[in-house]
Amino acid sequence: MVKKIPERSCIGCRGKFPKRELIRIVRTPEGEVKIDPTGKQNGRGAYICSKLECLEKAFKGDKLAKALDAEVSEEIFNRLREEFLSK
Ligand SMILES: [Zn+2]
Repeated sequence: MVKKIPERSCIGCRGKFPKRELIRIVRTPEGEVKIDPTGKQNGRGAYICSKLECLEKAFKGDKLAKALDAEVSEEIFNRLREEFLSK
């Protein structure tokens, strides 16, 4: 039996990727928006592939806010981008 690799869509480019190749952004139950390096943090998550332009696209198109059902301010985005780049 072939084991299926879980796939998720990048909210920037809509491409499908194996889950572990994506970066998960999570809104925690406390309402904090951050990058989830473990992929297991509780909360509502959205996935971005490893391209920075996808993170930017998701932010600018308001897709990130919609996917997380949270407000994503410029300040939060800048922090996400820094974490993203330090990967
Ligand atoms: Zn992408």
